[in-house]
Amino acid sequence: MNSAVFPNSSSQDQSIRHDWTRQEVEALFALPFNDLLFRAATVHRQHFDPNAVQVSTLLSIKTGACPEDCKYCPQSNRYDTGLEPEKLMEVQKVIEEAKAAKAQGSTRFCMGAAWRSPKKKDMPYVTAMVRGVKELGLETCMTLGMLTQDQANELAEAGLDYYNHNLDTSPEFYGEIITTRTYGDRLETLDHVRGAGIKVCSGGIVGMGESVGDRAGLLQQLANLPEHPDSVPINMLVKVEGTPLAQQDNLDSFDFIRTIAVARILMPKSHVRLSAGRESMNEEMHALVYFAGANSIFYGEKLLTTPNPEANKDMQLFARLGIKPEQRSVEHCEDDVEEQLHQRIEQSQNDRFFYDATRA
Ligand code: SF4
Repeated sequence: MNSAVFPNSSSQDQSIRHDWTRQEVEALFALPFNDLLFRAATVHRQHFDPNAVQVSTLLSIKTGACPEDCKYCPQSNRYDTGLEPEKLMEVQKVIEEAKAAKAQGSTRFCMGAAWRSPKKKDMPYVTAMVRGVKELGLETCMTLGMLTQDQANELAEAGLDYYNHNLDTSPEFYGEIITTRTYGDRLETLDHVRGAGIKVCSGGIVGMGESVGDRAGLLQQLANLPEHPDSVPINMLVKVEGTPLAQQDNLDSFDFIRTIAVARILMPKSHVRLSAGRESMNEEMHALVYFAGANSIFYGEKLLTTPNPEANKDMQLFARLGIKPEQRSVEHCEDDVEEQLHQRIEQSQNDRFFYDATRA
């Protein structure tokens, strides 16, 4: 074993570090693929059931017309992507969507608004959404842009479990992607979220033209936060026509898998989440990414239309790989979401044995 790369592997607790150097992280990225995956899978098994994956649903509660200039994002009002902006969704509508997500098996409901930051007048609505979704027995997560300490406290008071605010990329590459808010602004919001006692969800996007060093820089920043984020979403750039990154070259699939594996090694107890860009990944890649330590997925909004082929595809793959949805951590709920998910898995398994005449 190379102790320079993996110095504290002998002790589970000592493996939680906040002092990773760029050199160490780059050395992990440079390992032979099989060595890296073996190490990541070993760390994964020390801290999680390797055959359990958490399932979350994401709902856009306010779409488009965002004043920020994130070059990858179709919701920025600076790019013509044909996206129809929508106002903040009504509280009742959000709760109905959360009920539908729960019925489909999600245990966490994430609500996202395309804002620079929430305004004072928005806060009563978003806190009502948190309360309503929580009453359903779902874990709640929001992403609303930058937060002041007071806003973070207000959301905590309403019962918000998680707040998502991504660092996106390395500090060095960041200016190539966003100019309307600084890296420091992002770190400050994460401070406010942590200060309010809300769990942090923070990750980034790969495939934006960054170097391996930038991917190492992103993960180093996340791992060296005062506490590792509870969830670390690793997104693959989705190239949207009209955004400045629409013509970006594809990222090598193995580089994506390496990023997941290094995230797992650096943040052993965090949920590493496969988020945007999943649609372009085939089943074999999903399987490798789960092996490398990813243990959370977003269903996305497509979940909310029935029937949902994307959700079915995930359930079928879970069944083929022997993966089960992770048990929910909300203790006061007595509903049957897990049961529903297991039923769906069984149904998916059964479906594979029936001949589908419509496809003949
Ligand atoms: S702040 Fe969020 S919604 Fe706004 S442009 Fe950036 S990524 Fe898109």
